[in-house]
Amino acid sequence: MDFSLTPAQEAFRGEVRAWLGANLPPDWATRPVTEVPRADMYEFGRVWQRKLYEAGLLGITWPKEYGGRGLTWMEELIFHEEMVFHKAPPPLNIIGLGMAGPTIIAYGTEAQKTRHLQKILTGEEIWCQGYSEPDAGSDLAGLKTRAIPDGDDYVVNGQKAWTSLAHIADWMMLLARTDPEAPKHKGITYFLVDMHAPGIMVRPLRQLTGDAEFNEVFFEHVRVPASNILGGVNRGWEVGITTLMYERLALGFGLQARFQIVLDAVIGLARRMRHNGGTAAQDPVLRQKLAQLVIDNAVFKYTAARAVTRLLRGEMPGPEASAGKIWWCERHQALQETAQELMGLYGQIGKGSPWAVDQGLWQYAFLRSRANSIEGGTTEIQRNIIGERVLGLPKD
Ligand SMILES: Cc1cc2nc3c(=O)[nH]c(=O)nc-3n(C[C@H](O)[C@H](O)[C@H](O)COP(=O)(O)OP(=O)(O)OC[C@H]3O[C@@H](n4cnc5c(N)ncnc54)[C@H](O)[C@@H]3O)c2cc1C
Repeated sequence: MDFSLTPAQEAFRGEVRAWLGANLPPDWATRPVTEVPRADMYEFGRVWQRKLYEAGLLGITWPKEYGGRGLTWMEELIFHEEMVFHKAPPPLNIIGLGMAGPTIIAYGTEAQKTRHLQKILTGEEIWCQGYSEPDAGSDLAGLKTRAIPDGDDYVVNGQKAWTSLAHIADWMMLLARTDPEAPKHKGITYFLVDMHAPGIMVRPLRQLTGDAEFNEVFFEHVRVPASNILGGVNRGWEVGITTLMYERLALGFGLQARFQIVLDAVIGLARRMRHNGGTAAQDPVLRQKLAQLVIDNAVFKYTAARAVTRLLRGEMPGPEASAGKIWWCERHQALQETAQELMGLYGQIGKGSPWAVDQGLWQYAFLRSRANSIEGGTTEIQRNIIGERVLGLPKD
């Protein structure tokens, strides 16, 4: 790894720093932070995304002709570092920017790239990911949603589950079965689906936190033009895995940055909360825990940097992506547990109570963090991937 920046990269850092310094809302630094967009932040996230786009700070590695910046993963890393430094909020269209866009760049036709990429960057069209079904989560290749050709269209019937942001999404990356006779990984096709098409019903699922950020999505005779297939008929598994690879890569950059923002906020909380006659920050046991989390995040940062080095050499990221996912969710859950520990009984007081600390954010964040070891592929599945591909163990 080479950590020295070229003069052009230093100049890019200066540009991002100056822009964020001038454009974040003035009271931003004092607002509570979360790692996912919440319902009361959607509108802010949309406007914020548009501003980032207009400043040329989204799609940093995307080709210029589709609204990107045409730079390298090093500039992407610099951008995330500066976002941390300024405690900047995430843009709203996280699934579009992190997953749909890169997959369309990799597999899309010229027409698909022209149609979708810019609107992903501007946030005009929000995306969701229609992979999981009630009986196909870890065993994704067992999915049953069917797409049958009919003239120039395919007709889709079936159900997706746990679809994040489907309730505000305009487009979905859909995996559907197009050849039920083929071995299960071979008969799947990847479609770009207009969420406003007739026959799509979205039903929110309420979570432990009280929010409903994910949904069940039902398809009843939904017509999807064949021109919306990405990467070819029955090639959906390969295309879908590319999206997951980008998802884990986005986790590597984005979540390391957000982890640091939340960690800084917990350290600030420790300085404010009373604990055993002093502040929580003076408690030797809590100090040790916080120090360990700071060290762990430095390790994660350099693991993400190893993945960047591979990308800069034109290689694909390897097992760093799965290791990073496990690391992040275990550390983030430990961080939220530490926040609860240092708050004592105040940690149980939620939004709406005058006694709630930081408007109940920490109670929310603790409950939300339980999903980290499920979303984006469970910890057990990531361990299987590492066992098979890194350690060479027999397949599970
Ligand atoms: C907050 C959140 C947001 C999500 N957003 C989306 C989204 O936007 N789009 C989408 O498509 N999906 C989404 N998901 C779904 C997520 O990808 C699945 O929940 C996940 O892949 C697990 O699938 P499952 O829930 O069916 O559990 P199952 O696959 O039924 O697993 C149940 C348990 O068995 C374990 N297990 C299963 N197979 C094995 C094995 N072979 N070896 C060892 N252990 C195993 C699992 O680790 C788990 O502990 C989201 C989930 C959450 C929690």
